[in-house]
Amino acid sequence: MTGPVALRGDLARTVPVVVGGGIAGLVVAWELARAGRPPLLLESGPTVGGCIAAHLVGGLELDAGAESYATATTSVADLIDDLGLGDAIVSPNPVGAWVRYAGGSAPLPTAALLGIPAHPLAADVRRVLGLGGSLRAGLDRLLPAGSGAHSASLGALVGSRMGRRVVDRLVEPVAGGVYSTDPDELDVDAVQPRLRGALREAGSLAGAVQRLRGSGARPGSAVAGLRGGLYSLVVTLREQVEALGGTVLTGVDVAGVRPREDGWQVTTSVGDRLADTVVLAVPGPAAVSLLDSAGIPAPATSAATSDVLLVTLVVDHAGLDRHPRGTGILVSRHARGVSAKALTHATAKWAWLAERAGPSRHVLRLSYGRGTTVAEEAHPLDERDLTTLALADAGTLTGVRLDHSALADSALVRWSSALPRPEPGHRAEMDRLRTQVAARPGLHLAGSVVAGTGLAAVVSDARTVGRAVLSSGQGAQSR
Ligand SMILES: Cc1cc2nc3c(=O)[nH]c(=O)nc-3n(C[C@H](O)[C@H](O)[C@H](O)COP(=O)(O)OP(=O)(O)OC[C@H]3O[C@@H](n4cnc5c(N)ncnc54)[C@H](O)[C@@H]3O)c2cc1C
Repeated sequence: MTGPVALRGDLARTVPVVVGGGIAGLVVAWELARAGRPPLLLESGPTVGGCIAAHLVGGLELDAGAESYATATTSVADLIDDLGLGDAIVSPNPVGAWVRYAGGSAPLPTAALLGIPAHPLAADVRRVLGLGGSLRAGLDRLLPAGSGAHSASLGALVGSRMGRRVVDRLVEPVAGGVYSTDPDELDVDAVQPRLRGALREAGSLAGAVQRLRGSGARPGSAVAGLRGGLYSLVVTLREQVEALGGTVLTGVDVAGVRPREDGWQVTTSVGDRLADTVVLAVPGPAAVSLLDSAGIPAPATSAATSDVLLVTLVVDHAGLDRHPRGTGILVSRHARGVSAKALTHATAKWAWLAERAGPSRHVLRLSYGRGTTVAEEAHPLDERDLTTLALADAGTLTGVRLDHSALADSALVRWSSALPRPEPGHRAEMDRLRTQVAARPGLHLAGSVVAGTGLAAVVSDARTVGRAVLSSGQGAQSR
């Protein structure tokens, strides 16, 4: 069912309500539905999927948000298998991505985690850091295990053990690409909860990275995708939730959740609804506001989020056929002459997409925004100016001169409040928030605000939340 539907008539009937139809809300709804407890899912946007969305550019259906998932854990692959989509899983071109820093561009070191090298003296690390930078990074092995271990931010931790060059040339482009914020403002425990423990056990940061990475050595093998695009994941989730008796309503904004003696009153843009269970699966600012309506005060650290601007270019240029920057390139904030923070060469990354696009037609995805708002230099520009900026950036980053004559089509997507910016202390504060929520029978919290950014973390957490709802006996049979 699509579009707003009045809920008032249903006030007497109580079912579990899931608020937010991103991947987190859909996974929770799917867990409930397949356990025979079909929920009502309310999504404020026109479609489900949240940060997983599709758009048509140059006749190609492309992911407009997330386009791959981390394979360090099997959480997403397991879900895909359970949904019956396992045959569509594809690996990216193993050639890997590059990084652009103040002094040039180079392939990203193959063995790394969040940009932190597992082998500081390896040739591919030396190429980015220079010999002096690599030797400084190698000092990490000689420092006591406890040195720097209590640093609150990722940047401080890596800088104290391996030196600032590792932060500026490797960690900042990688972590900035994922979190749209500076590593000096990123909570270590939120972005990699096992890093401090691994550091203590291994005695060095490089050793910790080796432990956490396991044996996989190629950057291209650290993620996977779906043939046809990741968007099919949310389409299938919705279909299965509905086939199992769940109801998915889009265009319904949830304004408040208030406790009642017999459950929760969910106030929406189209009326109120009584629920025995409410799962909040919305981004930080919306979660804070809904929790406030439920009588749970805002966390001490902000549930701040960043905006991202994505410009997708479909271009015809044989110079890109040789994939000059592998699957793409991450950009250090210290690199000059480029505004984009990352470029994904999607047709180099995904063979299925190159096949669909045809000879010498390329899909380039550039992202902008490193802080609260989309990059100031890009913000005031209109669509044509942004496309021109993206063409210029793509040319600088790939080394292949591109202008409007090469452009077959382009699209612009502004993601607002899309990515959590976990400041130091965020993980501890979210754990406290979850404890407060757990004390309210029938109320649950899911999604990137508590799970962290990325499908692997969000999916795994959402499945746990779904099972917690079922085992708590709430979300029981619809009455
Ligand atoms: C451009 C971009 C690219 C990304 N690329 C990747 C990638 O390649 N790999 C990866 O692993 N991760 C990627 N991510 C991150 C990943 O997509 C997210 O971590 C994940 O999708 C978050 O899912 P979620 O369900 O927690 O939140 P969301 O996807 O934000 O979903 C929350 C939903 O709640 C709805 N909502 C909000 N308020 C209300 C309300 N009051 N009432 C009802 N509904 C409401 C929203 O409309 C939204 O649909 C990317 C993110 C972005 C923005």
